[in-house]
Amino acid sequence: MNDYLAELLEICGEDDGEVADYIPELATADPDRYAIAIATLDGQVYSAGDADVEFTIQSISKPFTYALAITDQGLDGVLEKIDVEPSGDAFNEISLEPSTGRPRNPMINAGAIEAHALVAGDDADGRSERIVELYSRLAGRELSVDEDVFESELSTADRNMAIAYMLKTVGTLDDDPAEVVRGYTRQCSVSVTVEDLARMASVLAANGVAADGTRVLETSVTRQVLSVMATCGMYDAAGDWLTTVGIPAKSGVAGGLIGVLPGQVGIAVFSPRLDEHGNSSRGVRAFERLSADMGLHLMEAP
Ligand code: GLN
Repeated sequence: MNDYLAELLEICGEDDGEVADYIPELATADPDRYAIAIATLDGQVYSAGDADVEFTIQSISKPFTYALAITDQGLDGVLEKIDVEPSGDAFNEISLEPSTGRPRNPMINAGAIEAHALVAGDDADGRSERIVELYSRLAGRELSVDEDVFESELSTADRNMAIAYMLKTVGTLDDDPAEVVRGYTRQCSVSVTVEDLARMASVLAANGVAADGTRVLETSVTRQVLSVMATCGMYDAAGDWLTTVGIPAKSGVAGGLIGVLPGQVGIAVFSPRLDEHGNSSRGVRAFERLSADMGLHLMEAP
């Protein structure tokens, strides 16, 4: 399996696009890093390439925080505040449903900022701690925030601030917008490897049960999360992705990309150059190839 993965990276080695630079610290990433990992439900991890390089989780945090918000508030409580419709918009679009003031889904920033605020906690720090704790349980090791990326992102977070203040104005967000963006930015700045992400994805693939047999999330929660990933996880490329690759997925601007094959595996790729939708260029290529080679498309019977 490791040999196949190494070969896959080579075949899908052609790269294009640009490293995200709207967060200054991300612009310093080595653009040539490339890694892939697959985690089975019983905890086997196969990988190739730069599998031990750390990068920030960024928007791949969104499905996991959404899962925690549902666990804390119940699905109906979360649906009252965040819809589940694909927006067809870019990830940082300042858009809300006009009639209800709800963000259109939890995978774009507006919905993810709201989901972060719905996580239970005494204060902003308490909330962020619970979030990092959940990610750590899913990854099977203690994760932490990359403070350099956090500071860099927070100092340039004007657009996310604008989104949070807008959510407050329409009555969707109850908390202090600046504190919520601070916490959301910490969640995006958690440092991971491609193997961590594959493990996290594999727990979603296992209806919320970790490789050691302990339940981390309820099945009803992971079903909701995977459904939203399938329809909204790749932003305005979600339709293209679902038709070509055919599995629930989520990308992040640091170049990470996860895919979840329910009942089978969690997959992650890392390559920092992004396409015009903000998804990892080589990540998308590797997934397309993997899906074709291994017959992963969910809409095709094995
Ligand atoms: N932290 C980033 C932001 O809010 C996450 C965006 C992303 O990964 N697509 O802008």
